[in-house]
Amino acid sequence: MNDRVFTSSLYERVRRVIPKAEWMSFEDDVNSILELKRRRNAVILAHNYQTPEIFHGVADIVGDSLALARKAIEVEADVIVLAGVHFMAETAKLLNPEKTVLIPDMGAGCSLADSITPQDVALLREAHPGVPIITYVNTSAAVKAASDICCTSGNAKQVVESLGVPRVLMIPDEYLARNVARETNVEVLAWHGHCEVHELFNAADVRQLRENYPGVTVLAHPECPPDVVAEADFAGSTAVMSDFVGQQQPARVVLLTECSMSDNIAVHHPNVEFIRPCNLCPHMKRITLANIRTALEENCHEVTIDAAVAAPARRAVERMLAV
Ligand code: SF4
Repeated sequence: MNDRVFTSSLYERVRRVIPKAEWMSFEDDVNSILELKRRRNAVILAHNYQTPEIFHGVADIVGDSLALARKAIEVEADVIVLAGVHFMAETAKLLNPEKTVLIPDMGAGCSLADSITPQDVALLREAHPGVPIITYVNTSAAVKAASDICCTSGNAKQVVESLGVPRVLMIPDEYLARNVARETNVEVLAWHGHCEVHELFNAADVRQLRENYPGVTVLAHPECPPDVVAEADFAGSTAVMSDFVGQQQPARVVLLTECSMSDNIAVHHPNVEFIRPCNLCPHMKRITLANIRTALEENCHEVTIDAAVAAPARRAVERMLAV
């Protein structure tokens, strides 16, 4: 199959969410990336918040942070390109120390990861002696290294309850911690970090959506404020939201999370109407086909982690994966 025929068949997958003229402007980069992947024995891991031309056009493995971390262990390639933000690339590197891990833009950060430092974690330990520290994966490797165990939005409650203690610290996402606290008898102490995308949703928006779109099913990400989660029909990680839509096939749904998520799953569910209040993650949107291509062509923006940090950080991630 020649490349033009192949990219046309790829287009069939995304035609409901990408206009043809726009897709044509992507074809050259898509073809080049597919060829570079073959030549360099590379795979692309893409988060659910990546744009559809990346998610459906060039990615080999897609998912939420938990799925990407799990699948990163199984990758058989020399090079991993992480189409996502920096902490995700660090996690991939922690789990694949021998492989080259590239991120197309080193500036792809995260407001949650920026909200806490290893020094903050040390102060928390001093203030709460003996209380285990559970760290959301949306943090730097250095913060993970200072923690006891990691969690994602998909397994946070499970991780909290796996420790068998009456009280835990969950950092850095205040809302995730408070949302998990509502579901467990374990006391959950929080830090004050927020996701700059999910904190924009509020409970009044949810009520307005229900008024404007009668019958709509509202799904919220647990990084949303607790009053938003309380107003929603269901809350869960992006993977759980995707499964919910697949299994329940609601006639009309709104996903209170990053914009591209709806585009990416709408591709698979032509009978579901997606209402799209749009909050973009500026960090995720720094990743483009053009800079993925450049990363592979020039082997640039390699992610490295100091060995003294990598060992304890890997332990915290692996402890989570074992739960
Ligand atoms: S969506 Fe929020 S949590 Fe995810 S990378 Fe962007 S700022 Fe960080």
